[in-house]
Amino acid sequence: MSESIETRLNFIEQIVEHDLSEGKNGGRVATRFPPEPNGYLHIGHAKSICLNYGLAKKYGGQFVMRFDDTNPSKEETEYVESIIEDVKWLTGDNLTGRIRYASDYFEQMYTWAEELIKKGKAYICNQSLDEMRDNRGTPTVPMKPSEGREFSPEKNLDLFRRMRNGEFNEGELTLRAKIDLASPNFNLRDPVMYRIIKADHHRTGNKWCIYPMYDWAHGLEDSIEQITHSICTLEFEHHRPLYDWFLDNLDGIWRPRQYEFARLNLTYTVMSKRKLLELVKGGLVSGWSDPRMPTICGFRRRGYTPEAIRAFCREIGVAKMNSTIDVVKLENAIRDDLNKRALRRMGVLRPVKLLIENYPDGQTEQIEAINNPENDADGTRLIPFSRTLYVERDDFMEDPPKKYFRLSVGREVRLRYAYYVTCTGFDKDANGNITQIRCTYDPATRGGTSADGRKVQGTIHWVDRNCAVNAEIRLYDRLFTKENPDDPQDPTDYKAYINQNGLEIIQNAKLEPSLADATPDQRFQFERIGYFCLDATDTKPKQPVFNRTASLRDTWAKIEKKG
Ligand code: ATP
Ligand code: MG
Repeated sequence: MSESIETRLNFIEQIVEHDLSEGKNGGRVATRFPPEPNGYLHIGHAKSICLNYGLAKKYGGQFVMRFDDTNPSKEETEYVESIIEDVKWLTGDNLTGRIRYASDYFEQMYTWAEELIKKGKAYICNQSLDEMRDNRGTPTVPMKPSEGREFSPEKNLDLFRRMRNGEFNEGELTLRAKIDLASPNFNLRDPVMYRIIKADHHRTGNKWCIYPMYDWAHGLEDSIEQITHSICTLEFEHHRPLYDWFLDNLDGIWRPRQYEFARLNLTYTVMSKRKLLELVKGGLVSGWSDPRMPTICGFRRRGYTPEAIRAFCREIGVAKMNSTIDVVKLENAIRDDLNKRALRRMGVLRPVKLLIENYPDGQTEQIEAINNPENDADGTRLIPFSRTLYVERDDFMEDPPKKYFRLSVGREVRLRYAYYVTCTGFDKDANGNITQIRCTYDPATRGGTSADGRKVQGTIHWVDRNCAVNAEIRLYDRLFTKENPDDPQDPTDYKAYINQNGLEIIQNAKLEPSLADATPDQRFQFERIGYFCLDATDTKPKQPVFNRTASLRDTWAKIEKKG
């Protein structure tokens, strides 16, 4: 990443630095991440977390993780727990003392609602939400007034208290702000502040039967927490006048400011919680943590690191223009990170037997291999080598083209770290399938170099047949075949574009023995194949399952050239 990207301030940092230089907010910076616990977090949320958490960290401020749990009908404790886990993982912060719930503020919000009623700035309305929609007018025709608009504050207060006491049914009454029925901004046409919902809330149980609307609640939450910069996505820009109106009409409260930035969109995926829930409920993926999902837990299970996701968020930056980011940028971020940290290992995905005819039967030797050429501290390991190995079926051709540098009869290749071998022949079964490839090795090439300076052009990986670990390998591809599966212009349902080849499962792959002790926190590069990690969910004792995190870029081409 170039230095200019690292050091150039984004527009929100510019605002924060400007505010600090003017001594605003008492020189304080306080941000929040305010998810509604109605689904798992996705990579779009990661952008918001990195931005809010990053600002607090950079400017020595406070960050709170706030659940915007104001709608009891869609929210669940499962989501709360997953969100906490994901934010901790992504930030590397255990969030001690910094988790808040909007539902803890219900009483205070209620008190403020009474304040507006007493000031004649809020009233009880008996129109249903459908009626309100029908009555809302056009840009030039004002909204039809509700009779409650003319009620006295006393009458409204009485009705509001009875609403709270459960004397009315869902849909019967709402509390609305008295702002401007003719405003060109429809958000200001007397928006609803409270509606009746008779459902149990995950934290407050049945204590409440009136629940605040997002626009009313959000600024109050920010005010209670003394947030300085309340950052949300662009679709809330037209809600800002309402955010300001509520705060400006209450007395003696902390005054936060709202700023909007462009949400993250990524190619080949969908990012709305509603759609992700649909994929989960419809069984189109194995769950929220399916490694094809754009969820934070999906990326974690797939082997992504928080460092890579944070680097991605830094790279894409923060702006005010909506755009769609190529998923390749995210894939490259994880490759860059794993290239530095992954332990190199050998694993054969589609094995065929390689018999070394001149290698003594019953003998095994230990071959030294480098764990990570990017990090000397990772050291070396010993890998067993004997007369029969596994190699990739694809690394042998019966009738090779001229430029094929791997195994074919008469050609010499290097077995990575071990010896040069020359292919002498192969055997087939009755169906014409190759059952074994035969070769001879040159004992003078131990370590993979020849004393006489003889070069080979191909280097292939291998695993000793006697010591191989059997494993299931899951190769993931993009979740959708279309770059923009939920294009609003496209009448076809986005689910029609699910990639039917998004998951390929390989049973009985053969891995080098050290991988028997792999743990889910480790990251591996299977040489020439890609980056992998152990699947923590489906791995069973002696039955490891590995997920491919990312394919390799073209690193192997370099190794072949060096040979
Ligand atoms: P969705 O549209 O997926 O349902 P949401 O906006 O309803 O998401 P919230 O739980 O309300 O989800 O979001 C919490 C925070 O994350 C909000 O501040 C929101 O603006 C931000 N956020 C949500 N999606 C994105 C995104 N794609 N890019 C950046 N920020 C996002
Ligand atoms: Mg939302």
